[in-house]
Amino acid sequence: MANKDLYFDSAATTVLLPEVIESMSHALQTLHGNPSSVHTSGRISRTKIEQARKTIAHYLNASIGEIFFTSCATESNNMVLRRSIKDLGVKRIISSPIEHHCILHTLEDLEKNESLQIEYLNVDSEGTIDYSQLEQLLSEDIPTLVSLMHVNNELGNVLDLEKVGELCSSNNAFFHTDAAQSIGKFKFNLSQSNVHFLSGSAHKFHGPKGIGFLYIEGNTSISPILTGGAQERNMRSGTENLYGIIGMEAAITSAEKNFESRLSILGELKSSLKEKINHCFPDATFNGIHNSNFQSPHILSVSFPPHPKNSMLDFSLDMEGIAVSGGSACASGSVKASHVLEAINADPERKTIRFSFSHLNTENEIQSLIQSLQKILSS
Ligand code: PLP
Repeated sequence: MANKDLYFDSAATTVLLPEVIESMSHALQTLHGNPSSVHTSGRISRTKIEQARKTIAHYLNASIGEIFFTSCATESNNMVLRRSIKDLGVKRIISSPIEHHCILHTLEDLEKNESLQIEYLNVDSEGTIDYSQLEQLLSEDIPTLVSLMHVNNELGNVLDLEKVGELCSSNNAFFHTDAAQSIGKFKFNLSQSNVHFLSGSAHKFHGPKGIGFLYIEGNTSISPILTGGAQERNMRSGTENLYGIIGMEAAITSAEKNFESRLSILGELKSSLKEKINHCFPDATFNGIHNSNFQSPHILSVSFPPHPKNSMLDFSLDMEGIAVSGGSACASGSVKASHVLEAINADPERKTIRFSFSHLNTENEIQSLIQSLQKILSS
């Protein structure tokens, strides 16, 4: 019999928490003023937005004036990449081949501008970027933006933010990090960091879809992509997504309040699944950095050895009521390994599945997942 909706795809998006739904529905029922209106109703909405900004800034240890609301991490990332060339005199962007497509496709687009140089750092078979190559590139006297994700969404690899920040700072380079996967799961102290830009997205930490933010370090200034009504202190025009912002605030408040307990649940779930896979499927291998200090607690990428049922494993799990993500993409009707798996030279004959958790998963669910995997792969 199929399982009842087991969700192991929290890196794709997370389930809304009851406290988020509650705060949003209260806002939907009680707030209607346009935050830009000067009358009381508008001012009440404005106050809610500024309160949410304060909450996000507090979580990041940043100043209130350094937080700008956007629609998603994709938008935040686009703002940084596109505007740093125009406004910061950046002539070169250093990134990696295992970034999210919203970085890579934007870089492809920007590359059409012939005066921009783009360097992709080498990554090893675990997906670790080549820090010495970064150091060597940064020693060249070219105005540079480094854009590297904090947590890789396919492998769970964690970037050494401090190390990259120091390298950027000592070579006068700007540093952007896409933190879509790490908000709520890591602590940040941006006021003491060398990060100039950081992107986040609420739906990755149990908030609503369609709302995100961009941190811009106080002494760094870029111009907006969206112009018009001068909202977000002229950084992002368009009437604010009031209800989304309120939901995002509730999600970050909940993440901060329950930080340690959630982290411990995630850690236990991940090691339990790892242990059971090792036991039941000894030929399966784990992708990403093996040192657990550089692994996010919510993502486990597993490659299963060749098997007649392999290619359909994610679909078969779906038939069992289990949501996971397959490490492949459909391009022009054919299925090919994801750009991340290609970059780490993953064996294309093996089937990679990304299991990603939230604190809402349970040990019983892990056991059901293992049983379903055994059922599919032994039939
Ligand atoms: N960056 C990373 C690392 C992601 O995992 C995702 C979502 O999958 C995004 C960016 C895009 O996020 P959004 O849906 O908020 O645009």
